[in-house]
Amino acid sequence: MSAQHIEEINFCIRCGQPLAKEFCFGRLRPKCPACGWVYFADPKVAVAALIQKNDKILLTRRANDPQRGLWSLPAGFVDAGEDPLQAIARECLEETGLSTRAGRLIDVLYGQEHPRGAHILIAYQMEILGGELRPGDDVDRVDFFAREALPPLAFHTTQKILQRAQEMDQS
Ligand SMILES: [Zn+2]
Repeated sequence: MSAQHIEEINFCIRCGQPLAKEFCFGRLRPKCPACGWVYFADPKVAVAALIQKNDKILLTRRANDPQRGLWSLPAGFVDAGEDPLQAIARECLEETGLSTRAGRLIDVLYGQEHPRGAHILIAYQMEILGGELRPGDDVDRVDFFAREALPPLAFHTTQKILQRAQEMDQS
C-alpha cells in the first residue's frame, strides 16, 4: 500500500494564527504558537458492503472520479458521529436502492488507495431485506456479477474483501 496521505493544515482553527510544526505527542505536528492548539490528523473511515445473491456479487459503477467508469462494492465514508453499521446501510440504500441489514464483519483494512480515499475500510456482509435495484448517488449502474466474470474493478480492496469472505466460507 502506498504512503499514507495526511491532510495538511496551515492555520489555527481556534484563533486563525499560522501554525508551526512542533514535536509533541510522539511526532511532528502542526501547533499554534499563539494559543497552543495542536492539530491531530484523524483517519478517514469508510465502509464497504459485500451483497450476494445466487452466488453473484453486487457491484456499483462509479459515476465520478477517481476511477470513474470502474466498478466497486457499495461503499462510502462514515460520517462523524455515525455508527459504521448505520453508514453501510445508508450507503447501500443510496447507491443500490436496496434496504439491507448487516451480517458478519468480513475485515478491517488499513491503507489508502488514492489521496481522497479512506485510511481505514470496514467491510461487512449485508443481507438484502427489500427495495428495488437502481443506481443512485455517485453510482450510475448496479448489477450482480459472477465471481469469475467481474467487470474492471476500481480498487484492490474489492478483490481482498472477496478473497477474505471466501476464506471465511471455507474455514
Ligand atoms: Zn491558535
